[in-house]
Amino acid sequence: MPLNPQNVIVTGANRGIGFGLVQQLLKNKEIENVIATARDVDQAVELNAIQDARLHVLSLVVTCDDSIDNFVVKVGEIVGDSGVNLLVNNAGIAVKYDSRTQPNRALLTEQFDVNTISLVLLTQKLVPLLIKASSNPETLPLSAAVINISSGQGSIANNTTGSGSLQNMAYRMTKSAVNQFTKTFAIDMRDEHILAVNFAPGWVQTEMGGAKATFTVEESTSRMVESFYKLDWSHNGGFFDKDLEPIPF
Ligand code: NDP
Repeated sequence: MPLNPQNVIVTGANRGIGFGLVQQLLKNKEIENVIATARDVDQAVELNAIQDARLHVLSLVVTCDDSIDNFVVKVGEIVGDSGVNLLVNNAGIAVKYDSRTQPNRALLTEQFDVNTISLVLLTQKLVPLLIKASSNPETLPLSAAVINISSGQGSIANNTTGSGSLQNMAYRMTKSAVNQFTKTFAIDMRDEHILAVNFAPGWVQTEMGGAKATFTVEESTSRMVESFYKLDWSHNGGFFDKDLEPIPF
């Protein structure tokens, strides 16, 4: 049975791909709650302008444990016993770092903290709410999923350019680690009926992707969300582009 989510979370949703995902998800009238996160809710002007009672804009700084804990409590209050059907881990940064960069622990740590460590911790802390959804007989067998927004840059198999002009060695490493987390989590959570996959959105016109990127936010996110609804257990642990084509790890 493909994914048919009722309660959805999108992190890093105040701009870029996260904001686009929220817009696309709200088009699905079967979704009951879209929980969109922003570091500073007051600054999330576009999110706050959306007139839809199903949208909940919550504060979340993924690198802060207290912020995660407060967020999880608020999510629990919104979704109740229905739990969380879909967690989209989208928040991320890209710091410039290549093999010739002077060794810099702070930059590497920041890159890993946001893109990898925080994603793992947030997901783990949401497991009880994901299990609530996955234990709901009304929506079994596929009722809870974690989608991690990775990047084609995270593919070790496809890496032919090294850090490249983007100086993205550290970024690549964090996304490869996310891919490994997703695969491991997917296997570990199979018995709990929680699916986990990685998506690469393509090169997208955002603050991170820049104006010359190939895809608009609307193109990338509409195609990704279409793919989300096609997910089934055959995809568990996999790494996919926005059209659900597999990407080699
Ligand atoms: P943007 O830079 O436009 O947006 C990033 C989002 O992440 C913002 O909402 C930002 O919040 C949030 N964020 C950053 N740090 C934190 C933090 N510590 N806590 C909470 N939220 C945080 O990037 P994109 O929309 O382009 O990227 C979204 C995802 O897609 C990322 O994971 C990225 O790696 C991935 N991706 C992007 C590609 C592209 O071409 N754009 C290509 C491949 C993957 P704030 O506004 O407060 O800074």
